[in-house]
Formats: sequence, C-alpha cells, structure tokens
Amino acid sequence: MTSMSSSARPLLNRRLAEFGTTIFAEMSALAVRTGAINLGQGFPDTEGPEEIREAAVRALRDGRGNQYPPGPGVPELRAAVADHQRRRYGLSYDPDTEVLVTAGATEAIAAALLALLEPGDEVVALEPYYDSYAACIAMAGGTRVPVTLRPHEGAFRLDLDELRDAVTDRTRLLLLNTPHNPTGTVLTREELAAVAELAVERDLLVVTDEVYEHLVFDAAEHIPPASFPGMRERTVTIGSAGKTFSFTGWKVGWVTAAPALVTAVRSAKQYLTYVASGPFQYAVAEALALPESYFDAYRQDMRAKRDLLAAGLARAGFGVYRPAGTYFVTTDIRPLGESDGFAFCRSLPERAGVVAVPNAVFYDHREEGAPFVRFAFCKRPEVLEEAVRRLKTLAG
Ligand SMILES: *Cc1c(COP(=O)(O)O)cnc(C)c1O
Repeated sequence: MTSMSSSARPLLNRRLAEFGTTIFAEMSALAVRTGAINLGQGFPDTEGPEEIREAAVRALRDGRGNQYPPGPGVPELRAAVADHQRRRYGLSYDPDTEVLVTAGATEAIAAALLALLEPGDEVVALEPYYDSYAACIAMAGGTRVPVTLRPHEGAFRLDLDELRDAVTDRTRLLLLNTPHNPTGTVLTREELAAVAELAVERDLLVVTDEVYEHLVFDAAEHIPPASFPGMRERTVTIGSAGKTFSFTGWKVGWVTAAPALVTAVRSAKQYLTYVASGPFQYAVAEALALPESYFDAYRQDMRAKRDLLAAGLARAGFGVYRPAGTYFVTTDIRPLGESDGFAFCRSLPERAGVVAVPNAVFYDHREEGAPFVRFAFCKRPEVLEEAVRRLKTLAG
C-alpha cells in the first residue's frame, strides 16, 4: 500500500470515526449469503403507481429535467408540495420562497443541520433515531442529546419532563421524527403541543422528519409540528416521495419552511448535490396530486401487512409493539429468552431464514435498545406469510 498519509493518522476523520458501515450493509449481505427473507431494510418489493412511472418516462422523453433543474426544484413540484401541505394540514407555503426540493429527505436533513448549526450547538433528538441523524449532526460539528422513547403500555412514548430537562442554554435545535422510525410511534396532539410550547419558550429551531406522514393507522393522526402556535416561523418540515409512493430510488424530497429558513437550508444544499432527480421531480408533482383514494388504498394495504406480520411475530413468541405509523414493527426478544438484539439478528438468518435489524444501532444508550429488534412489513403478503411461517420455528 502506498503511504498517502502518515500511518499514525486514520483516514476517516474524527467526526465520522464512530460511524463505520451501516448495519444494513452487514445484514443485507447476510440475507444474500443465507437466502434469508430480508425484513431488515425498509424498501417496498412492489412498484409504485404505474401512471406515475409513466409520468417519469414522459418527462424523460420530452426532455423535461434531463438538464440541471432549477436550484429550488421545478416549479410544478414546488406548487404541488405547497398544495399538498395546504390541502392536508391547512399550512400555506409560498412555492417560490418557502419550498425547496432536495435529493430525498436524507439531503434535506443534512442540509438543514449543516446550515443551522454552529460547532458546539446541541441538538435534542428522539432516541432511537434514524441513522443519518447522528452522522449529520456530527458532520455539522453539533452535539447530539438523545431523549429516549421508552416502552409504556404497548408503545414507545416520549417523556415530556425528560425532553424539558434535555434542553440547555446550548440547545439550538429539536430534531423530531413523527411517525417515528423504528418504533412506529406517532406523536399525539397533546405531546406535540407541549413540544411546541417548549420550542417557543426556549426559542429553539425545529427540524421535523415526516417521511411517513401518509402511513398512520387506526385512530392515530399525523399532525405537523409546524401547525402549532409559534411554530411555523421556527420549523423546517421535511417530506419525501420515497415512502409515500414506493419510489425510494428516485430520491425526491422537500423542505417547507419560512423564507429565511429555506434560504439557509438552500445555502448548504446547493453545495451538496446542487440539484437532483430532474425528470422524477415532474412525476412526483403528479403523484402528490393523486386523488385521496390512492393514499387511502396505500394506507389500508400497509395496515393489512402490519396486521399480518404483527400477528405472526406474536405467535412466534416475540413481544410486539404494534406500530401506529411507518412500515416497521419493533419487537421485544426477551419473551423468547433472548436479550442481545445484535447476537439475535446475526443468528436469525441461520436459525429461521429471516433478516431483521437490532434497534440498538439506533441508540446512543445501546443498552436501552438491546432487547429490541425491528422488522419491515413493506413486502408482498406472500413474502410476509413465508417469513411468519419460518419464524414460527422460534416458538419451539
Ligand atoms: C427512509 C427515511 C428517510 C430517507 O428518506 P429519502 O427520501 O429516501 O432520503 C429519512 N427519514 C426517515 C425516518 C426514514 O425512514
């Protein structure tokens, strides 16, 4: 090996050293090697709506979006995003100054944190958290302050006192995610009202990841934090087409926020990807305007899949936290006589031919997440049925 750097100094910098490779790479490789059913990573195994795929083909053929689209996103998509927020939530945003299209929610999160944080700023985030949050806070030089969601009466709940205690004079920003991956928790109106009050009282910025906004089940309701008093001007709301339309490969996301916030986020975004996904932006504009029946059918379909997998997991002996939202179910492996989710997930493909993800990877307090394991249910019913059949062997 040629010596490109002094051997004493690792290549990966200190900010990122703790984020080696994601667990998804390891578990997906394990799935391939063992022929196991992969319920680890959350991507659907069915195609999104045909007419939206056709819209992308049309855009590509007609030469719309094949060259750099406008920095803030194509006007059609910005208008569709603004319209969606108004129709669903009564939130009105100016498509020209208050909407920004990004390369998926992932870039929106990165750009928001890189733009809004100074080194040393504290970010309060709900733990367990989506894996890019910790890495992006680190890249921005911020310090993450986790507030742990804890099991209570069948769901992972936010302790509002703990949240209040986590805020210090150095806190710049609250990073929220509802519906919440990996726990499936949907923050309630009362919880969000308290969070909003705290943000206003302590003058905090709020970044809220709502990529599962259309996947809420039963009595749960998705309410954007930006809709609470005093929140619109301090909140960066993040959405994405990936989860809602089953096009995770298209990487079309967006930000809605007050002009000054959008301008700040755009300052970082323009030096990350600059722009992305040209033709897909036109197609997603059409997707957001699909009739209500699309969103209803999608939700019903996913709810049936949740019920199928949750029931099967319970029969196999797992403790099951029935999710109110998202397409993940978090389980407790202690009823199976297990306590280490990492070891459990590494052995599960050999034991039962199924891949899952240990929730501990989403925690700073790894011990808090140790007995929990996440399964994705965004798969065809026959795949879920086969997974359930295989997992039954665990019940002994
Ligand atoms: C999948 C996911 C994302 C990433 O969304 P993209 O639009 O694919 O970048 C962001 N946040 C959460 C919570 C997710 O589950």
